[in-house]
Amino acid sequence: MLSTGVVCYWQYVQGMLEKEVTVQIEVAGKDTALDFNEAVASDQQVVNTIAITVQDAYPWKNPPALTQFLQLQAKYNHFKDLGIITLDGKVLSFQNKPLDAKWVQYILGNTLEKEIFLSDRRPDPEGGNSVLVSAAILHSNDKPIGVLFAILPLERYQRILTLPIGTETSFAFVVDSQGNVEVSGREIPFENLFQELKKAQFIDRERFGKFQEDVRLGQATFLRYQIYKERRFVYGYPLAVNDWYLVSVLPTAAVEKQARILTWISLGLFAFIFAIFVLLVGYLLRLRAYNNQRLFTTAFVDSLTGAHNLARMSQIFPEHLEQLTQGAALVIFDITKFKVINDLYGYERGNLVLQRVANILRENLQVGETFCRSTADNFILLLGYEDRSELRSRLNKLATQIRRDCTANDACLMVDSAFGIYEITEDIPFFIMLDRAHLALENAKHDATDKIQFYDSKDRWRIVNERQIENSMENALASGDFAVFFQPKCDFKNGKLRGAEALVRWNDAARGLVRPDEFIPLFERNGFILKLDMFILEQVVKTIANWEQKGKKVVPISVNFSRQHLNDSRYIRQMTRILDKYRLPHDLIEVELTESVILNNVALAQNVVRGLHNKGFAVSMDDFGSGYSSLNVLKSLQFDSIKLDKEFLARFNENENSKRVIIGVVEMLKSLRVKVVAEGVETQEQVDFLREIGCDIAQGYFYSKPLPSADFENWLN
Ligand code: C2E
Ligand code: CA
Ligand code: CA
Repeated sequence: MLSTGVVCYWQYVQGMLEKEVTVQIEVAGKDTALDFNEAVASDQQVVNTIAITVQDAYPWKNPPALTQFLQLQAKYNHFKDLGIITLDGKVLSFQNKPLDAKWVQYILGNTLEKEIFLSDRRPDPEGGNSVLVSAAILHSNDKPIGVLFAILPLERYQRILTLPIGTETSFAFVVDSQGNVEVSGREIPFENLFQELKKAQFIDRERFGKFQEDVRLGQATFLRYQIYKERRFVYGYPLAVNDWYLVSVLPTAAVEKQARILTWISLGLFAFIFAIFVLLVGYLLRLRAYNNQRLFTTAFVDSLTGAHNLARMSQIFPEHLEQLTQGAALVIFDITKFKVINDLYGYERGNLVLQRVANILRENLQVGETFCRSTADNFILLLGYEDRSELRSRLNKLATQIRRDCTANDACLMVDSAFGIYEITEDIPFFIMLDRAHLALENAKHDATDKIQFYDSKDRWRIVNERQIENSMENALASGDFAVFFQPKCDFKNGKLRGAEALVRWNDAARGLVRPDEFIPLFERNGFILKLDMFILEQVVKTIANWEQKGKKVVPISVNFSRQHLNDSRYIRQMTRILDKYRLPHDLIEVELTESVILNNVALAQNVVRGLHNKGFAVSMDDFGSGYSSLNVLKSLQFDSIKLDKEFLARFNENENSKRVIIGVVEMLKSLRVKVVAEGVETQEQVDFLREIGCDIAQGYFYSKPLPSADFENWLN
């Protein structure tokens, strides 16, 4: 398009200029023709005037005086010669040179015939350049007596034949009707115009014929042709002299040069505009690329760590997987207790830890491997590996490096990791792989000793099992399949019953008595625990009311409440409603909250504990020592009793050190003036030891396992 445009434009400009030049050459040609006519006429006039003077002096008695007059006039008018030819052919001129008889006859004959005569170009009778002869007839008493002739040098007309068109290459000349050149403004290499034009190329033959015809008839005419590799315009205009004709020639080279300059200027301008356009487009494209990049960043990059996000990971996963030639594994890396880091040290520290972890993961990646941060403290890695033990040791090293780095940089003191691994053996969608790695991670989190777990298809059955539980839990609740067991709490000093803990059991037709560890975690995740806990509370309250009716001496019963209740604003109201329904004094119910619940949100826990106290309930901290409660937290929460985690006693026999830890902890708790309860008491030795160091209440198999209410009634007796 561009080149076609340029060619068209070039032709257009040239056409315009040609038209312009045609007009110019026409005007210049006409002007020159008029000048030429005038010059010839004025010479003729002069010759006529001299002729009148000369014929007045007839018969010429004083020849010397006549030649002197002629010489004077010739000099004055720049004639080469001025003379008289008498009828008998005698010549009288001031040059006084003998003239060719034929020449004399030619002038005499023509002038007598035409009265005034301008010759065609002829050789100078004296030799040398061509000349023109202007002549006039001489009369005496109305009879011809001779002829006055003037020899005119050609140069006097040549000067007129320069075209007033500012180009040096143009020229003009005079031809007769046969095309013979008579006078030319400058030297030209031909004698006859028509002969010359026959040699021309690119000439329209028809136009040429018309041109010749026009010249012969004395009409203005125009022709275009090419000769000597040059294109030319030629313009012909008739003169008033003889059958003469003025021809003006203008080579188009001059025009083409102008057209070229004009075209180049236009092209330059166009190129400039085009360049600006290109720059603009380039700028817009870059802007778009930049915006796309930004969009990409916000859509696919984790702003905190600069790592990919999950969406990006799922996109690039297949191509990375292809690069891994040996085994490949999808690993979910979880910073366990990350929430604790946030709560204890603040979000900035937490962010710092995440950034460090991301950096360490990045440093450890090998060709084809990649990773992303999926949620707050979850990283997903695609790793290559040879066998399980190699992968295990690599992950262990990674965990060590992370712990060391975070500790060294004081980011935190307890970055512990758990890994869930799915070994990629099947061609399944990325998100299903992720699900399986998640299952393994759940196992890793719950496994106290091995924090690196591989996905096992058995885990899938566990999930299926959980789905079954979820499907049947509502029914079980409605049909009373959840039962309450009571585990006695006794005084260390005298072994007397001081209370009991209510523990749920699922009495399933197919599976028998199911322990809470198998369903409570699931119920906490799906929210069913809110209903179940209230149901258990109501069972407990009903049971106590029933005992009272039977006239038994009742003891306070502890009921476990899940962390989920803390976020439920109706919690305390629901509790009081249940107790009031059975007109049971509030101090017969003690609420057990686990330490981890409290640590997750101390302020919220404070509110709830205060609210429970206001309603007259006792509150106990369960599983103390499994988390990281500080003395300050314990002080700010006014617990009535604190229950040592079973784990303390589980290691009782291991070494002296664990006893020393228990002594320290109990001593600290005593300083808070709360009742200290020991859970999981199984042996006489433990009883003696705990009594010794000042524990108040004991609970455990040593005294009794959790019992159905009917069996527990014996304890009340
Ligand atoms: P927990 O509150 O720490 O309850 C004590 C657990 O220790 C009970 O297990 C009990 O059977 C067991 N235990 C008692 N004495 C001994 C002993 O001498 N040695 C050993 N090794 N274990 C002993 P259980 O009944 O399986 O309950 C497990 C957990 O389930 C409870 O731990 C509690 O967190 C939760 N849970 C039980 N019932 C409820 C409930 O009604 N609501 C809620 N939210 N959680 C419940
Ligand atoms: Ca408990
Ligand atoms: Ca406990």
